[in-house]
Amino acid sequence: MILPMLREIVFGLVVLPALVCGKPNIVVLYSDDAGYADFGFQPNCAADMKELTPNIDRIAKEGARFSNAYMAGSVCSPSRAGLMTGRYQQRFGYDNNLPPGFQSGLELKETFGVKRLKELGYTTGLIGKWHLGYPAEYHPNKRGFDWFYGLLQGSRPYFALEKASAHRVIQENGVVTKESGYVTDRFGDAACRFIKAKKEEPFYLLVSFTSPHGPLQPKPEDAARTAHIKEKKRANYAGLVVSLDDNVGKVLACLKAEGLDENTIVIFTNDNGGQTLTGANNAPLQGKKGTLLEGGVRVPWAMRWKGKIPAGAVIEKPVIALDLLPTFVEAAGGKVDPAWKLDGRSFLSSIDGTPKTTTVTEAPRSLFWRQGGSSGPRAMRRGKWKLLHDRKSGQGPALFDLSKDIGEANDRSSGNPEVLKAMLKELDAWEKQMLEPRWGPGAPGARVKKKKPNKQKTK
Ligand code: CA
Repeated sequence: MILPMLREIVFGLVVLPALVCGKPNIVVLYSDDAGYADFGFQPNCAADMKELTPNIDRIAKEGARFSNAYMAGSVCSPSRAGLMTGRYQQRFGYDNNLPPGFQSGLELKETFGVKRLKELGYTTGLIGKWHLGYPAEYHPNKRGFDWFYGLLQGSRPYFALEKASAHRVIQENGVVTKESGYVTDRFGDAACRFIKAKKEEPFYLLVSFTSPHGPLQPKPEDAARTAHIKEKKRANYAGLVVSLDDNVGKVLACLKAEGLDENTIVIFTNDNGGQTLTGANNAPLQGKKGTLLEGGVRVPWAMRWKGKIPAGAVIEKPVIALDLLPTFVEAAGGKVDPAWKLDGRSFLSSIDGTPKTTTVTEAPRSLFWRQGGSSGPRAMRRGKWKLLHDRKSGQGPALFDLSKDIGEANDRSSGNPEVLKAMLKELDAWEKQMLEPRWGPGAPGARVKKKKPNKQKTK
């Protein structure tokens, strides 16, 4: 009786004394621009996608689904900067996407989390999309990844190119590989190669799929699997998702075949809100990639850790990608040094399956977002409240009660002036610690040159 009951329990913050024994392997499976409603494990999964992601769904089924999970950015590159460092990326001027070929990247004085894991004995690998700097000194192998198999740019075609540019070609540790095959399959195969080669060591592997980011180029056999979807764009997008799911399944099968199922943390999540322009569905959220509405920053998130997380758990506690680094350090038996100045917090104590002691409405933690510098849109979440302040619109800040209004339809600011005032004060204080962007909208000098302030590139 207890186990079925446990499956139904929603878990929250609890104190956990000794979750960790030994160093678990860590695999993060990261998709790109996928919709909030586009995975079977999501409670509001769109009907047309319900049966298309059995492998990704299995991670949530055998572990937990996080119902209040966020990225630190609403577009690819800033979101990854936060994920990699465990720090709000605006602290080092990374509000905006890195333009293709830009001669800079994530500040060299910032430390990538993988370096912390290497200090704890981990071998580190990155497969897929980088998007955090092009010059040699910004290369993944220079930032803490022992092994890199992927592309430097933010996206590329899925099929082999006749002539791939230096930033789009798939390289292995700086060595160009031959154009062949289908990109998502190549990343899944490479992940298995890494796992087999490194199985004797504790490893951290980030598989940074480009799928389902455009271009919408499914394999013909995958397009046939999504032919029930009438809208062509959505059908092609779904074709990218089924390939993603196949390759997640490939990685899970590889872990099992190597006997690593029990001692490996597996996380699946997505890098920013779904891109509705390329077919994603974010229901019931409003907004999309590039906005600070929930549809721009709230993401699907599943985590499996057999023997640690009870199967079928739902974790309501709000988490943000910045939390991954301190969580992994703690899971590896290490300690977060205050000198690292992380913004993320370990959520390890929330996943042992003990019934919740807090609810989402009581959560005291504040989360912050901003893009385009001190004149751009900004947002904050504290407990049930979401503050949204689009300074470009000329309208005042809006306040939403996410416990009743996850779609951010009803502005409650006029009825809750004290909440609004307190949150704005806290958001101001946070923002004072941030730098202006080093490039793109809001960067010093950029506004003078830009003729189209409303057009924000999200690629
Ligand atoms: Ca993205």
